[in-house]
Amino acid sequence: ACLDRIRQHDSQIGAFLKVMDDKALAKAEQVDKKRKAGEPLGKLAGVPVAVKDLLCTEGEVTTCASKMLENFVPPYSSTVIKKLEEADAVIIGKTNMDEFAMGGSTENSALGKTRNPWDTSLVPGGSSGGAAACLAAQMVPLSIGTDTGGSIRQPASFCGVVGLKPTYGRVSRFGLIAFASSLDQIGPMARTAEDTALFLEAISGHDPADSTSADVACPLFSKTVDQPLEGLRIGMVKEHFGEGLDGDVEKAVREAVKVYESLGAKVVDISLPHNKYGIATYYIIAPSEASSNLARFDSAHYGHRCDEATMLAELEEEKAALTAAGDEVGLKRMDTSLIRMYRKSRAEGFGPEVKRRIMLGTYTLSAGYYDAYYLKALKVRRLIREDYDKAFKSVDLIVGPTAPNPAFAAGSKTNDPLAMYLEDLYTVTANLAGIPAISVPCGLTGSGLPVGMHMQAPALEEDRLLRAAQ
Ligand code: GLN
Repeated sequence: ACLDRIRQHDSQIGAFLKVMDDKALAKAEQVDKKRKAGEPLGKLAGVPVAVKDLLCTEGEVTTCASKMLENFVPPYSSTVIKKLEEADAVIIGKTNMDEFAMGGSTENSALGKTRNPWDTSLVPGGSSGGAAACLAAQMVPLSIGTDTGGSIRQPASFCGVVGLKPTYGRVSRFGLIAFASSLDQIGPMARTAEDTALFLEAISGHDPADSTSADVACPLFSKTVDQPLEGLRIGMVKEHFGEGLDGDVEKAVREAVKVYESLGAKVVDISLPHNKYGIATYYIIAPSEASSNLARFDSAHYGHRCDEATMLAELEEEKAALTAAGDEVGLKRMDTSLIRMYRKSRAEGFGPEVKRRIMLGTYTLSAGYYDAYYLKALKVRRLIREDYDKAFKSVDLIVGPTAPNPAFAAGSKTNDPLAMYLEDLYTVTANLAGIPAISVPCGLTGSGLPVGMHMQAPALEEDRLLRAAQ
C-alpha cells in the first residue's frame, strides 16, 4: 500500500531520491514468515520506514543529495539502519534533503525538488524535507531525519507532522555522514507522538562505535507516553514572541498553551537572555565543523572525481600560457596535478550553499580569526547552555513556536541566505545546548497551513516531551 501511494503521488511531491521496492517487499515477506512461524518479532515488525539519504546504507547509494556522493555506495550500514533492521522494520527508500543537510527548504538538494504536500507551490522545510513530506503525504508512517540546527523540527512544523531531536548522544551517529559533529543528531519523525515514542525507542541506545554516544539506559517511551504529567510547569520565553514572528503562528501557539493550562499546567514567563546570539553562534560553529568534516571529500578518499584528461590538458594549457608570457612567479605558483584534482573535483561536486559554508568555516578557523570568531562562539555556546540550566530550575518544559513562519513559497528565499538562516531562530539553541526538543502540530494558519509548536526539555528528558506531546 505504501509503495502504491508513493507511485501515485511522489511525482508531484518528490520526497524520495530512491525507492527500494524489491528489498522492501522481500523484507516484508521475511517478517511475515517469522510472524506465521510464531517467532519473536521486533518492535517495528513490518512497519515501512523512510530514511534520510545521509545515513550510510550498505550496498545502497547514499548521496547526501550531493553530486559529490551521487555514486557513493557505503561498504557498511549506520547503527540506526542496523537497529531498524533488527527491529524488523521495512526500509522502503531514501528521502531527499538539502545537500549535506545544509539548508531549511530542501531547495539545496542537487538531486531533486521536494514540495509541501499541503500546497505544492510551497517548500516542505528542510533539511529533512523529504522525510517530512513523505509522512504528510501518507506514503509511510515513520521517517528518519537528522537535526543539526532544526532540520527535523522545522520541516515537521511545515508539513504538520511530529519530529523529535533527541538529546545529543541518545542516538548513535555511527554511519551518519557528518555535517557538524557536535550538533548533529538523528531522530524520529512520525504522524503522532505515540508513533514517535516507539520509533525513538527502537533507534536509541549506547553504541561503543560512537564515542559521543551516551551510556545510559533507554527508557521504554512507548510504555509511558499515555501517562499524564501532573503539575506541569511550562516556560514561555519572552524573547520568542517578538520581532519576526508571524501573527498566525503566534496565535496558534498561544491557543495551544491555553489547552495545557485548561488541563492544569502552570505557565511561567521566563527569559533566555543569550538566545538572541543563537543564530550568530550556530552559523560560526556549524560551518567551522563542516569545513573540517567535508575536507575528506577530496575525490581520492571519497566522492566525485573530475575528468582527469581534461584537468591535465587544462594544466598544460596554463603552463604553456605562463611560459609564453615568461611568468616565472606564475609558473612556481601553479597547482600540482594532485592539488588541481582536489580543487576541480570539489568545485564540480559541491553546490553553492556547501561551498559558502566551507568558506565561512575555513575563515573562522583560520589563524588570526580563530580567537575572534570560533573561540568566542564556543564561549557564547556555554552561556546559552547555562541559560537553559537556570530556566529548567523553575520550569519542566519550554514551549514556543518551532519556526517564525509557516511553509513559504518555493524560490522565495533561495537568493537570500540570511533570510533562510533566520528560519532557525528558535531551534538552533537546543542543538547548541545538546538538549532534546520536539515539534508537534498545534493548529492552522488563516490560510490553512500547519503550525508547529516547539517544546524543549532538559537533557535525557525525551519521556517528558513525548508525554506532553501526546
Ligand atoms: N537550517 C539549518 C542549517 O542550514 C539547520 C540544518 C540542520 O539542522 N541540518 O544549517
